[in-house]
Order: sequence, then structure tokens, then C-alpha cells
Amino acid sequence: MPVATSKKNPYVNALENFDIAAEALGLEDDLRGMIKYPERILTVGLPVRMDDGHIRHFEGFRVQHNTARGPAKGGIRFHPDVTVEEVKALATWMTWKCAVVNIPFGGGKGGVTCNPKQMSQTEIEHLTRRYTSAILPIIGPAQDIPAPDVYTNPQIMAWIMDTYSMTKGFPVPGVVTGKPISLGGSLGRNEATGRGVFFTIESACEHLRIPLKGAKVVVQGFGNAGSVAAHLLDGAQAVVIAVSDSRACVHNRDGLDISELMLHKDKTGSVAGFAASEPITPEELLSLDCDILVPAALENQITAKNAPKIQAKLIAEAANGPTLPEADTILFEKKAIVLPDILANAGGVTVSYFEWAQDIQGYFWTLNDVNQRLDRVMVQSYQDVHKVAQEHKVHNRTAAYVLAIQRVVDAVRLRGYYP
Ligand code: NAD
Repeated sequence: MPVATSKKNPYVNALENFDIAAEALGLEDDLRGMIKYPERILTVGLPVRMDDGHIRHFEGFRVQHNTARGPAKGGIRFHPDVTVEEVKALATWMTWKCAVVNIPFGGGKGGVTCNPKQMSQTEIEHLTRRYTSAILPIIGPAQDIPAPDVYTNPQIMAWIMDTYSMTKGFPVPGVVTGKPISLGGSLGRNEATGRGVFFTIESACEHLRIPLKGAKVVVQGFGNAGSVAAHLLDGAQAVVIAVSDSRACVHNRDGLDISELMLHKDKTGSVAGFAASEPITPEELLSLDCDILVPAALENQITAKNAPKIQAKLIAEAANGPTLPEADTILFEKKAIVLPDILANAGGVTVSYFEWAQDIQGYFWTLNDVNQRLDRVMVQSYQDVHKVAQEHKVHNRTAAYVLAIQRVVDAVRLRGYYP
């Protein structure tokens, strides 16, 4: 199986994290090979008629990393930088994430290399429907269930559901999650990732005796996950002193008014220019004196270069893959506590699981039901990871991988080797 070579390639990092945990578990080589690499990689060519009448060719992917514990589950990314290597990394992380929170899914991910910001809604709809039709043989409520990811949204999920259902001849809401509520979406799904990050931080603070009230918080990436986490932390009387987005970083040492900042971002599209704040650089943001840092933007943000300057005691990874493996070692040596992505941001896939379960039963829960069940899953998962960290004397990331890999290995062993 060819592997990627660049250090910045997230798939290289995903494999490195796996190897560290497999070593801690003493996993034998046969099993390692079996669960390390994807089960299925599909590349599809997508001719799409654009608004001006010409046909443009796009490339798309769907990767199923491991399905030992259940159908593959994972989002679809529409972004100019999508590559098959990135989709492989994201699918691999989904396997471990579903296993950490103990939901009955394996890992999958999809992506199309495109720039939806430069496409009309009609072009995006045509691309979505063509992509759905191309991956249709391998998706389904019992096979592989897509969801939104970067630059995909509930409307795109509705088109996927419709294309799949029209081909089957009957409505199949359980083929995709993150749908609009009126098509079988779940209450609370939109806020689930940020809420799960908050529940994980709350568990860790209680356990580590860090009072949330008055704790200074910095959030990198004030989007869906980051803004919801910031809002809930603010509600728990933590003091959010700085946030950023792709255009600006804003800081107020006495605390930003998060509700006002959310309105400002809705109105202007950015946190830039928010009143009662001063602009700082992205480097300054990461090195601010604070208790809790929430990276909620993109991969590869915390590096060997900036990790030594990070002052936060607790780092809760809302983003996927924000910390490079060499930075992990530096943070561990500084005694910072990292709540790794496959634990901290698993609230999104957990409520996706709730959505799928509601669709299959045709019975829908209240928002309170959803949030209480999410709380229980995140608290239990934090405790499970902490227990493994103590038993194996490893930091939380390796512990989360050990827990996840052990659960996948148990399923593989029980199922046996086919044929
Ligand atoms: P989003 O697009 O809503 O938000 C991302 C935010 O990050 C935006 O505000 C953007 O401006 C900002 N950003 C981009 N580049 C930045 C940079 N260099 N510095 C600072 N800010 C920057 O996306 P999201 O759904 O919130 O996802 C954010 C991260 O969380 C991604 O890594 C995603 O994979 C991960 N995640 C999201 C979910 C979910 O359900 N939304 C679930 C699990 C993981």
C-alpha cells in the first residue's frame, strides 16, 4: 500500500498517531496491517454542466477506512485543496472517533476538489447530484452514511438524500445526516460539535480542578464548532479573551462579548473590526496567557515552532488534526493537557448517530433528549480515555487511539478473517 511522504500531509500524521498507539498496545503486525489502511477507496470523475453551458470535469473521492464495528460514517468536503490523501486521513480519524465514543459506526469520508465559493447554487446542486450518483453503489443507511464537512451544508445533504431516494424509488432519509429538520434531521445537530467540545472541557476541568468560572479562553477559528464552544464557555462564566477567523484575530483582556461577536460575524462575515477589541496577529493569539485554548480552524496549526510559546493548561481540539505529532511531544513535556480531536470534537458524529437512529425508527427526540444523551456520551468518553491514559502511562491522544484501536481490534477478532 503506497503511503504519502510529506510531513504536512495529514495522512502521514494519521498513520504516525496510529503507529504510536499500536506500539503502546503491543499490536501484532497482521492486525496492524489489517486496520491501519482503508478498506475501500473510490475515485470518481464528475462531468458537470456549468451555468454558461460548458462541461467542467471535477474529481471526487469516497474512502471507507474500516467497517468492522458498523457502516462507514463521515462527512463530505467541497474544497479546492481536497486530495485523496486528505480524504484517507479524515476517513481514518472517523474510524477512531466513532470507536472512542463507542457508537456503532466505522470510518468514512468524502470530498470533491472544487471551489464552491466560485460556483452558483445550481452548479453546486448539479455537482452534488452527479457525485452522489457516482458514489451511490457504496453508500446507504446500512453501508456508508455521509454528512456535512467543510463547505457542505444541510441543503447539500437534502440533495444527496433526494438523489439517492429517486434512484431507489422511495424516500431514504437515513442515507445521510446533517439534513434539514423537515427532512428527518435531528434537533441539536448543528451545534453538536461545539457542545461536545464544551462537555469535554467541562469534564476535564472538573477532574483537573480547573475552575471554569473565570478561566481565560482563546478560540482559533470562530466558525460553527468554535463559536458554539465559545458561546457555551461564556455561558459557564469562562472569559473568552481572544478569537480568530481566516481574516482577523480579535483580543480583549477583560473578555469579549460573545453574543455580540456572533451577531457581528453574522452581519459582516468576519470577526474583523469588532468593537471593544484590539487586533492581534495569529502568532500572538496562540501564545496568549490563557487557561484553555480551543483550536477550531484547520489541520496543522500547532507546530514544533509555536508549541513552546503556548501557555494554555488545557487544549481542546475542536478541529481535526490541528496539532502536528512533534508539537504533541512539546506540549506533553510542558505538562499541558490535550483533549484530542477524536475525543473532543466527536459530539458532531455522535448526534449524527442520533439522527440516523431517529430516521430508522421514524421517531424523533426533543432537543433536551439529544443534549442530555450527548452529555452522557462525552462525559463517559472523557472518563474512558483518562482511565486508559493512567493504565498505559501515556498522554490523552495516545490513550484515545489505544481505546479506539482496541475496540476495533475486538470487533475484527470476533468477526474473524474472511474467507
Ligand atoms: P467552519 O467553516 O464553520 O469554521 C471554520 C472557521 O475557521 C471559520 O471561521 C474560518 O474563517 C476559520 N479559519 C479558517 N482558516 C483559519 C486560520 N488560518 N486561522 C484562524 N481561523 C481560520 O467549519 P467548522 O464546521 O466549524 O469546522 C472547523 C473544524 O472543526 C474543522 O477542522 C472541521 O473538520 C472540524 N470539525 C467540525 C465538525 C462539525 O460538525 N462542524 C465536526 C468535527 C470536526
